[in-house]
Amino acid sequence: MKDKKIKELIEKELFRQNNGIELIASENYPSISVREAQGSIFTAKYAEGYPGRRYYGGCEIVDELENLAIDRAKKLFNVRFANVQPHSGSQANFAAYRSILTPGDKVLSLELNDGGHLTHGSPVSFSKDTYQFEHYPLGEDGHLDYPLIKKKLYEFEPNLLLAGYSAYQYEIDFRQMREIIDEYNSSHQIKCYFMVDMAHIAGIVAAKKCQNPCDYADIVTSTTHKTLRGPRGGIILTNDETIAKRVDKCVFPYAQGGPLEHIIAAKAVCFKEDATKSFAKYIECVLENTKACNDELKRRGAIVSGSDNHLFLLNVLDSFGINGKEAQNRLEAIGVTTNKNMIHGDKLKPALTSGLRIGFAPATTRGCTKEQAIEIGGLIYDVCSDQNFDQNKEKYISHVSDITKLWKKIDEVEFPLEDE
Ligand SMILES: *Cc1c(COP(=O)(O)O)cnc(C)c1O
Repeated sequence: MKDKKIKELIEKELFRQNNGIELIASENYPSISVREAQGSIFTAKYAEGYPGRRYYGGCEIVDELENLAIDRAKKLFNVRFANVQPHSGSQANFAAYRSILTPGDKVLSLELNDGGHLTHGSPVSFSKDTYQFEHYPLGEDGHLDYPLIKKKLYEFEPNLLLAGYSAYQYEIDFRQMREIIDEYNSSHQIKCYFMVDMAHIAGIVAAKKCQNPCDYADIVTSTTHKTLRGPRGGIILTNDETIAKRVDKCVFPYAQGGPLEHIIAAKAVCFKEDATKSFAKYIECVLENTKACNDELKRRGAIVSGSDNHLFLLNVLDSFGINGKEAQNRLEAIGVTTNKNMIHGDKLKPALTSGLRIGFAPATTRGCTKEQAIEIGGLIYDVCSDQNFDQNKEKYISHVSDITKLWKKIDEVEFPLEDE
């Protein structure tokens, strides 16, 4: 690396990541193989179009590469068609919507404050400009309320029902949603499609530790950089050939230009890593650690959501009398990274929030054990409840470094490509 300034920033960031406890639920550390593919010469190649039908010459090798990535994605998620070109989860959603909807069509999605994503109808996103959104709230207990979703479906008569969220910690019954939609479609002329955005839980799906939305939805989108542990990017999956053809046109040339073949190479690596028993074991540990940390906070008397997946929500306002922003800042000051998050029925503004979203996918990649997840729960409790936080800060900082010293450095983590 000749650019000294950029080199210095990369080193500083690696130091920050190695020396902190990363609890942001949407992050993870990809393998060196994924990062090498990302940094490869494939970045130099223009390949607008798809394998076998490109706009440029010299695409024999990228064709082989992209076909391999597609085949691995299809195998991993047990699905018939995959588009691996979306530059991000948001781009995947942009293209996926347009492949089954016409601007002005109606979409029913989860209330954003209850865990939906910006692209699920936020006024600051393209989605709200292009489609008419109506939202279903969570039930009183903070779980999806299927009878309520059904009621909203019949009232609003949307063209699309959307599931899959950014801050939802319980199992999602895709099968039941499919049944509700099938019943609705049997008595309505205008069909309602079912789309799942599995950005957060894709790794759990790949490890077969929850229902596979590809078995039930007409179209499935995902990021590749969250629990899937790949490069930053998106994918679109479907079992429907007509939808698959529309998806290809909507990704390129409608939404994007030339594909990032270096990122597609990195996606192919992660799809292979994710098909191993070692990855399934990793996901099991993520689920265990998340639950262990949640349960420790609960045991100490804090109000937590519980969890069926890789994240949970901590109600810091009612537990400690501080808002989410304050809790996030305190933890950040000692090297623990989290994000403030709205909780179900939140009375504070999104800039403050009453909650904190905590996830164990990245820490578990570095080797966080169940005992350490419990220890981290205790640490979060102490930091958030401390009346003299500023005075005790140094003590917490050294506690954090005691924990991270036991973990692998990010560049030392082993990611098996094959089962032994
Ligand atoms: C993270 C996320 C996305 C967007 O991913 P980007 O790559 O940041 O655009 C979309 N949907 C859901 C549910 C997400 O959690």
